[in-house]
Amino acid sequence: MSDQYDVVIIGGGIIGLSTAMHLLQRHPRLRLAVLEKDGGLAGQQTGHNSGVIHSGIYYRPDSLKAQFCVDGRAAMVEFCEANDIAYERCGKVIVATREEELLRLDALLERGLANGVEGLEMVEPDRLREIEPHVVAIRALWAPSTAIVDFTAVAEVYGRRVRESGGEIHVGARVTAVVRRDGVSNIETEGGEYRARFVVNCAGLHADRIASLMDVRRDVRIVPFRGEYYTLRQDREHLVRGLIYPVPDPDLPFLGVHFTRNVKGYVEAGPNAVLATAREGYRKRDVNLRDLIDTLGFAGFWRVARRQWKTGAEEVNRSFRKSVFVRDLQRMIPEVTAADLRPGGSGVRAQAVSRDGALLDDFVIEQTDSAVHVLNAPSPGATSSLVIGRHIVALADEAFGLE
Ligand SMILES: Cc1cc2nc3c(=O)[nH]c(=O)nc-3n(C[C@H](O)[C@H](O)[C@H](O)COP(=O)(O)OP(=O)(O)OC[C@H]3O[C@@H](n4cnc5c(N)ncnc54)[C@H](O)[C@@H]3O)c2cc1C
Repeated sequence: MSDQYDVVIIGGGIIGLSTAMHLLQRHPRLRLAVLEKDGGLAGQQTGHNSGVIHSGIYYRPDSLKAQFCVDGRAAMVEFCEANDIAYERCGKVIVATREEELLRLDALLERGLANGVEGLEMVEPDRLREIEPHVVAIRALWAPSTAIVDFTAVAEVYGRRVRESGGEIHVGARVTAVVRRDGVSNIETEGGEYRARFVVNCAGLHADRIASLMDVRRDVRIVPFRGEYYTLRQDREHLVRGLIYPVPDPDLPFLGVHFTRNVKGYVEAGPNAVLATAREGYRKRDVNLRDLIDTLGFAGFWRVARRQWKTGAEEVNRSFRKSVFVRDLQRMIPEVTAADLRPGGSGVRAQAVSRDGALLDDFVIEQTDSAVHVLNAPSPGATSSLVIGRHIVALADEAFGLE
C-alpha cells in the first residue's frame, strides 16, 4: 500500500474511534486511518463490559479518571441524546452491609463531592427501600446520575462519524511491526503495509505490545483480568431496579461483584476479577501461551501476586464455586438464590502493571514526538471515551504540530 496517512490509529475500540472522530472534527482535511485486527469494530473490552455510564465517585480527586469520568458522563449523555442512542439514567446505590464499611462509605461520599458528582446523597434503610426495595443494608450512597448504555452502539456511531468525515477504517489489519524511518512510521499489518506521519496506539489489551514495538514504556505490561457475569432469571429481575454495588476494597482497582440492569432490560451480576490465561480469554479454558509467558515472565506481576495472593485465591475460589459468588450477592440482596442465576458473559480488563508491582490506577496516556500511546484505560474508560478522545487530540496537536 503506497498511500501515506497523516495519522494512523491502532485499535478500533471505543477510545480509538473517539480519537479518530475528534481528530477529524478538528482537522477535517487530515488523512486518517483506523487499523483494527478483528473482523469488526469494538469486539474486545468495548463489547464486553457492564455498560455503566459511571458518575465519578471512586477516583482520587486529582486524577485523570476523576476529571475525565465526571466530564465524560455529561458528554456521553449529551451524545446519546443527540444521536438517538438508548440510555437510561437508572441511578446506583453503593451499599454498606457491615459496620466496618461505614467509614469507607463516608470517604466515598467525600470523594464524590470533591469530584463534583451530581446529586449524591447518603441514605438510611427507609429511603434505600424506596430506591431498591430488596436491598438490605445499614446505609447506602445514592448516585442518581449514574446511567446505563450499550457502549458497542456508541462506538458504532463514532465509527460512522469517522467514515462520514472521510476517515478510513480497515478491519482485519493486525499490526505486527512499526518501523520509523525518515520521519515516517511504516506500519506492517496482516492486511498490508501502511505509512503514517503519526501513530496513536489505542490497542487496549495489546497496547503494551504496540508501545514496545515503538520502544516506549517497556516497564509497563498489560495483565489481563477476566470478569465473569451471571444473568438473573427473568422472573427474578424485579429484585433489581438499577445498579447495586458493594463498598469496594480501596487497595484494588476493581469494584466488587455487583448487580447491573442492562439497557436491553436484563440484569447481570458480576463481574469478578480473575487472572486470565489469555488476553482475549473469555472462557476459563482459554489459554494463550505467549500471553501467559508474558504475564508470568514479568517481575511486576510477581510483585502484585506476592502482595495480593490472598485476594487472588479468593477470586479463583469465587470463580469456580457459584455458592461463594451467590453468598457475596446475598450480602446485598438476601433473597437471591443460586437457582436465580445462570452463567452469563464475560469481559477481559486490560490492567497495566508497572515493573515495581503497582496496579496502575489512573489512566496512562503518553506522547512522544511521533506517537501517542494509551497505556492504561480500564473502567471508566468507556464512560470517559469522548473526553479521552479530545485529550488525545490536544496531546497530538502539541506533539505533532498538527494544524
Ligand atoms: C468486564 C469489564 C467491565 C467494564 N465495565 C465498564 C463500565 O461499566 N463502564 C465503563 O465506562 N467502562 C467499563 N469497562 C472499561 C471499558 O470497557 C474500557 O475502558 C474501554 O472499552 C477501553 O476501550 P479501548 O478502545 O481502549 O479498548 P478495546 O475496546 O479493547 O479496543 C482495543 C482494540 O484494539 C484492537 N487491537 C489490539 N491489538 C491490535 C493490533 N495489534 N492491531 C490492530 N488492532 C489491535 C483490538 O482488537 C480492539 O478492538 C469495563 C471493562 C471490562 C473488561
